[in-house]
Amino acid sequence: MQLIELSPHDHLVINAGALFSGINLHSKKNVRIHIWDAKVQLIERQTVNHKKGLAGRKKNCQVISSDNLTVIPGLIDCHVHLAFNGLNSQLQHREELSVTEGLQKKLVSDLAHGIVAVRDGGDRRGIGLACRDMVNNVELKGPLIMASGTALRKNGGYGSFLGTGVAPGELAKVMKRLLKDDINQVKVLVSGIVSFKEYSRVGGVQFTLKELKQIVRIARAHGLKVMAHASSDEAVQLCINAGVHSIEHGYFISEDSLKAMADQGIAWVPTVVPVVVQSQGIGDNLTAKTAVIEHTYRRQLRMIGLAQKLGVILGVGTDAGAVGVQHGTGYLKELQLYREAGLTEEETLMAATRNGAYIVGMEESLGIISPGRPAYLLVLEGDILKYLIRPKQGMTAEGTFQSA
Ligand SMILES: [Zn+2]
Repeated sequence: MQLIELSPHDHLVINAGALFSGINLHSKKNVRIHIWDAKVQLIERQTVNHKKGLAGRKKNCQVISSDNLTVIPGLIDCHVHLAFNGLNSQLQHREELSVTEGLQKKLVSDLAHGIVAVRDGGDRRGIGLACRDMVNNVELKGPLIMASGTALRKNGGYGSFLGTGVAPGELAKVMKRLLKDDINQVKVLVSGIVSFKEYSRVGGVQFTLKELKQIVRIARAHGLKVMAHASSDEAVQLCINAGVHSIEHGYFISEDSLKAMADQGIAWVPTVVPVVVQSQGIGDNLTAKTAVIEHTYRRQLRMIGLAQKLGVILGVGTDAGAVGVQHGTGYLKELQLYREAGLTEEETLMAATRNGAYIVGMEESLGIISPGRPAYLLVLEGDILKYLIRPKQGMTAEGTFQSA
């Protein structure tokens, strides 16, 4: 994938056979897209005359042209951990790159897979937050980053690598500190993790409904959304009642919870790939091809299909950085899993683009291709999802990306 960075002076014309704009599930055929000032300025229908015309006559006008091209909005990964590299626990320590080099490698991989924005689910040392600042200051090159800083977790509860822990009664104080760090959203660990040994066993709930409501209230008062790590339906229901913005993981979510989420506009980021890779014996659990893991992710796929039918706002998140999930490549696997869950190509793309933009809080600038909006978009050659999921030898694709 080739990255094109546009300066305000560049004029780019894309003549494409199809446009998936993210506005609805239907693609437009034979379009011409004009980009300048790093924004989409005009989308028109190509005519035969057009095909010979305009583009060639203008100076400083770059043209990308083929009937075989499809244009889609840039992809969004709603759940990553930039601090981690997806290797198992022994290899994490052996990584020889400096922290900055390691981050740059992950960010480049995201861009190379068409990912223009990521939402970081936090880490104990605030590396994701520092990474966002380095990208914003153009010290690193990468997608847009929405950072959580450290995750809220109960002292002694799950997730010591994600957050330092909140003692009873200290919630407001800890949140004040996070807000000072200029976080983009609040990440809270509501449950533990799912067991790969015993089907449907999940680590216990860490926060009470009262505490969760306090978290949501403080976050909202500062214009922030809450992304809630919640597996087990008990944890999911608490999050729904507290009014969080998105449920992360949600393994063992129930149909009733999905209906409530559809009603209340609460999004779901189901992160299937970190479970699937465990069943393939990647990561720490090398002998892992157990029925429990397969059973767990197949249930998750069924619930994704159901969520789509019920009208839940589904996003695509990989948990990249988790054992066995690499930044960038993990995203393509997650898209493949959405297709396996029964979503159409267009529904999968909608989850990956417009829904993602809503979930990460960038709906004003990302997720939709339309005049006046920044030109974060991908130009893909050939059968689009086939390309994204299984790159074929000899296929080319251009990514266009607005410069800061
Ligand atoms: Zn996570």
